[in-house]
Amino acid sequence: MANKEIIPILIVGAGPAGMTAAIYLARANAKFKIVDKYAPGGKMNITQHVDNYPGVDTIGGPDLAFKMFEQVRGLGVSIDYAEVTKIRKETDYFVVESDEGEMYAKAVIVATGTQERKLKIPGEARYTGKGVSYCAICDGNLYKNEAIMIIGAGNSAIDEAIFVSKIVKHVHIVHRNEHFRADEASVNELKAMPNVTFHLNTIPVEVLGDGKGVTGVVVKNIADGTDKTIEVKAVFPFVGSDAVTDFLDEFDVRDEKGFVLVDEEMMTSVPGLFSIGDVNKKVLRQIVTATNDGAIAALAANRFIKRK
Ligand SMILES: Cc1cc2nc3c(=O)[nH]c(=O)nc-3n(C[C@H](O)[C@H](O)[C@H](O)COP(=O)(O)OP(=O)(O)OC[C@H]3O[C@@H](n4cnc5c(N)ncnc54)[C@H](O)[C@@H]3O)c2cc1C
Repeated sequence: MANKEIIPILIVGAGPAGMTAAIYLARANAKFKIVDKYAPGGKMNITQHVDNYPGVDTIGGPDLAFKMFEQVRGLGVSIDYAEVTKIRKETDYFVVESDEGEMYAKAVIVATGTQERKLKIPGEARYTGKGVSYCAICDGNLYKNEAIMIIGAGNSAIDEAIFVSKIVKHVHIVHRNEHFRADEASVNELKAMPNVTFHLNTIPVEVLGDGKGVTGVVVKNIADGTDKTIEVKAVFPFVGSDAVTDFLDEFDVRDEKGFVLVDEEMMTSVPGLFSIGDVNKKVLRQIVTATNDGAIAALAANRFIKRK
């Protein structure tokens, strides 16, 4: 190991969780490195508006991302580009493999978030951020006097539909069969809403738009094979999301769904391997909970390094 630089702490992911960890580590004069496979900001970069981050008036998601990035940069930290592909443990350090080569770290903070399962239909990618959104609680407010569509019928789909049906003019629920996976009480609450229409045995086929935003969705009834267009200004697919943790396969630190399990200091069962933000098993995935985790893990990782 004579020629290899071992970084004390490596943060993987520069969303709000990773950038907060960087701010706390920089302010503690700790030696660390932060890498991301894309531009810093994570999911904030695909959020139209954030209006629930304390102390900040309604702000575009990319603008909040840039503010955090500026704060990180102002502390003398640069964010490096690298996509981490595997993390493994040697006796007293981690080997972090990436498309930019190997890195070595005494402690690693995983902050790689989640990846929404996509519908994989025409128009979805083109109108993401222009009416296609994966967070109705966050973006439903933008469509107060409009009809919107929720795709899916699991707990998060139904909960977000209940929330958004109190805000928007009309909610179309598109669900591929007749049975709901969500809690019966929640489904009944949604069914009682006067402005909700269910399209069962139905799948989305194409998101339509005018170049600037969504105008409708073509759906297919799989029971009778007929197509129709439903006019909506926004589409919220909730067909699941997965934690981005493939690179952790070597470790037994995830629940059955792939979310990382941590203790109150954000450390996994592997000493020195920390995890923060949406990638963790938790009840609320928001910017404020991601930044919370980042602050805790940064100081805990710094303590861990000093103990070694
Ligand atoms: C459309 C939408 C709107 C939202 N609106 C709001 C809102 O209004 N208010 C709110 O509080 N929350 C909102 N959220 C939720 C919020 O954005 C997330 O909870 C938050 O971004 C999670 O932060 P994170 O740092 O854990 O993960 P992320 O923001 O997902 O960041 C993870 C980072 O890790 C990087 N990464 C992933 N894999 C690798 C790898 N292998 N190697 C290197 N880097 C990697 C990614 O590029 C990314 O930059 C919204 C989410 C969505 C999808």
